Amino acid sequence: MKIAVVVYDHCQPKKCSLECYHYCPRVRMGDEIFTFDKAGKPIISEELCLGCGICAHKCPFKAIHIIGLPHEIEEEIVHKYREGGFRLYRLPQTLDKKVIGLLGANGVGKTTVLKILSGLLLPNFGNLEEEITPETVLKALPGAQLKKYFIDLYDGRLRVVVKPQYIDDIPKYFKGSVRGLLGRLSTDDRVKEIAKLLEIEEILDRDVKTLSGGELQKVAIAAAMLKEGEMVFLDEPSSYLDIRTRLLVSRIIADLAERKRVLVVEHDLAILDFLSDLIYVLFGVPGAYGVVSTPKSTSKAINEFLEGYLAEENIRIRNKEIRFTVHPPSTTEGREVFLTIPAFSKDYGTFRFSTEGGELYEGEVVGVVGPNGIGKTTFFKILAGEIEADMPVSLDVKISHKPQYLDQEFRGTVEEYIKECLTEEELSDPFVTNEIFHPLKIKDLYEHEVSSLSGGELQKLHIAIALSREADLYLLDEPTAYLDADLRIYMAKVIKRLMDKRGKPAMVIDHDVYFVDLSSDRLLVFTGKPGVEGRSVGPLSLKDGMNLFLKSLGVTFRRDYQTHRPRINKPGSNLDREQKRKGEYYYTE
Ligand code: ADP
Ligand code: ADP
Repeated sequence: MKIAVVVYDHCQPKKCSLECYHYCPRVRMGDEIFTFDKAGKPIISEELCLGCGICAHKCPFKAIHIIGLPHEIEEEIVHKYREGGFRLYRLPQTLDKKVIGLLGANGVGKTTVLKILSGLLLPNFGNLEEEITPETVLKALPGAQLKKYFIDLYDGRLRVVVKPQYIDDIPKYFKGSVRGLLGRLSTDDRVKEIAKLLEIEEILDRDVKTLSGGELQKVAIAAAMLKEGEMVFLDEPSSYLDIRTRLLVSRIIADLAERKRVLVVEHDLAILDFLSDLIYVLFGVPGAYGVVSTPKSTSKAINEFLEGYLAEENIRIRNKEIRFTVHPPSTTEGREVFLTIPAFSKDYGTFRFSTEGGELYEGEVVGVVGPNGIGKTTFFKILAGEIEADMPVSLDVKISHKPQYLDQEFRGTVEEYIKECLTEEELSDPFVTNEIFHPLKIKDLYEHEVSSLSGGELQKLHIAIALSREADLYLLDEPTAYLDADLRIYMAKVIKRLMDKRGKPAMVIDHDVYFVDLSSDRLLVFTGKPGVEGRSVGPLSLKDGMNLFLKSLGVTFRRDYQTHRPRINKPGSNLDREQKRKGEYYYTE
């Protein structure tokens, strides 16, 4: 069975010559395989399509996918957005007192699943002809358990609470203080109790519009906990949070699952691993179709995801396995010092940062870890010459900096934006094309308006631009924000390989432990008191850096025996206690 999908947002018939239509062999034979909707976008008849894929290949916007699907999957369609639109196959089951995790690339239907399970979207089971009502849904649903879920949902016995993905929108919908927002949902005592748990007591009287990303995330999670409901959906609860807070939130979510059903979408694999009781992997082609896997134990799901092969489904989701190394070779040995960062300090009045400086070796990636509000971004901005330190800091080298908050104001296409940011020399450099643009598929975005890019696409574009610049030091501030798990891991490898080949150092601030582990040769650890005082220690070896950092958090990691990926130990477990006793917070066999 083949499906022909036109990714609606990508299709731009006003900007192309309808290559899909003109090159199609069936059109040339005189068959009416193409129809066009009001916007001039094509709908391809799946009955007539030969499956040759010429249209997909010729489309300048990579908007068409012709895909062969196993028959049994095709029969389990749950929703189709429109003729030739995205399709979702199968649904996950939620369970009492369990945290169910959803793992999948951006664009494979995670939000669609959440919308269906929360009753916001009535699934049409691929039938676009007939009117859809709760009754037709209940009739079409397979399995008694799912039926029971939807009967309760549509009858109002199962109330759903959602923590949305894009928390940045909250200030647009709510004007007022945090206390005002949370106070509408529960009693004062409950608000106080939850605020204490999530460590937001001190910001209760702040205006919502003045909150940082991390503070907004905690407020959104607090709101989800306070709202009455039996089912809680959390869409990317770790975004903007530092590792300590990610763990704090994970424990709170686990506690919530003692009383409610919880479904979590999360791209930080260490956190998803720690948080979930069971995981469904969503696989497919982003924008075209997504299939929900069978439920898997947490460790099996993540191992299969990293191996790139789902055993029960007998499906390869990636060509290459992702491997972690338990004892990475020392990267400083045999390498020259490339750059020395001088000691400096910065006093904002309320917050003070200092560094003793340090040496960076050629071709190495130094991960930068520490809590929010400890001065990491300030440190980068001073190095990049964007703000001044208390004393002059002159590095005398060319720096390429990807900031934390990305500008989407540019009016024009991705191609125009890239031409504005990079020199002709940089753009025509085969290294840039082969090592950055090609693996990150940047050319697929060329014709898109910068303002229309999704969070993940925008992040990818800014990382690609920062890495393509000819520079002596590369600074990347939170590159994993909005990237899905697959792209995070891929990006870690791209950055590491690039620096190694270029022989230039990079420093990368991030909170995703898998990303840090895969990308970094050494670590710069930020310690102090968030919002008051911060200082940097290192760069240290990855092992020493992680040990120091995790010790300050009181968290230990073990290694998965199969994939060697780091796994968070349950606090107070035998392993946790033993590792703490030995001072081995990271890297044990
Ligand atoms: P994810 O949450 O995994 O990123 P989504 O469920 O948001 O994925 O989207 C999956 C696909 O469905 C996307 O390609 C998106 O363009 C498409 N899609 C989402 N909502 C609609 C809609 N209302 N109409 C048409 N297509 C949609
Ligand atoms: P991190 O990147 O580790 O989260 P930042 O460098 O962004 O930390 O901020 C460190 C501290 O400095 C925070 O408490 C922040 O509020 C404060 N800060 C940042 N910029 C300024 C500024 N321009 N004026 C005063 N305080 C600032």
